[in-house]
Amino acid sequence: MTESITRIHRNCPICNHSESFDHADNKTALWHLKTCRQCGFVFLQDPPNYDALIHDFAWEKTYQTELKRRTAAEPVLSRISQITHFLRHRVFKRNKLARMVRKHIPSGRVLDVGCGSGGQLTRWFNRDYEPWGIEISAFLADKANALFTQYGGQCIHKDAVGGLMSTPDKFFDGIIMMSYLEHEIDARGVCEASFRSLRPGGRLIIKVPNHASWNRRIRNEKWCGYRFPDHVNYFTPHSLSVLIKEIGFEIIQFNLNDRMPTSDNMWMIAQRPKEI
Ligand SMILES: [Zn+2]
Repeated sequence: MTESITRIHRNCPICNHSESFDHADNKTALWHLKTCRQCGFVFLQDPPNYDALIHDFAWEKTYQTELKRRTAAEPVLSRISQITHFLRHRVFKRNKLARMVRKHIPSGRVLDVGCGSGGQLTRWFNRDYEPWGIEISAFLADKANALFTQYGGQCIHKDAVGGLMSTPDKFFDGIIMMSYLEHEIDARGVCEASFRSLRPGGRLIIKVPNHASWNRRIRNEKWCGYRFPDHVNYFTPHSLSVLIKEIGFEIIQFNLNDRMPTSDNMWMIAQRPKEI
């Protein structure tokens, strides 16, 4: 499997520095988890290219393999984690996204970057919104497009930067990135393109794993957020804030409650400043 894939060599995706060192949690010979010498960002240095990600390492496939491995290695912990994951996912997180969108993006065009089959937006949707998505998988993009066009939106079948750049400047009222940025080879490029595509005052909602979580610090290389090679970026509250502010966004909401060290994930609301 590994012999046939094409790898991409990356500098630090946040500051573009070329020098890095092995992260202490780097226990696999196959993938190289690095820490940037300049800014301290943790990232996979040599992930597969986009095509390989789609064809060989689709998240669903890797997740199933990983789930089997964890269940075999730690049956009790794994079972508890599956149940709490299910509850959080089904009951709390879905409501949290809906709540956050309604509060921060009251109406208009909403773009879901990496929208999959489109269910994330439309399962709680109403006519105040025009749903848009970008999806690199042709199969999923077709499904999402069929849903979104019913509400006047559409799904763009491209990589995220290409998709964003194909829309007019200041086009969207809001952009959401749910469990997306950790997968994106060009995380800075996608955030920059999102800034351009948001109208002034438009909001960006990000949910991403928190590499500074206590769970990661305690479990080290066994942390559930490590998913090689699907997850290529490992943000902390600090590095996410630095990236977002450098691009020009204002951080609207990133309270302790949104980045609790007891949670494996964190949420941020940012805004393209109104005056620009
Ligand atoms: Zn860096």
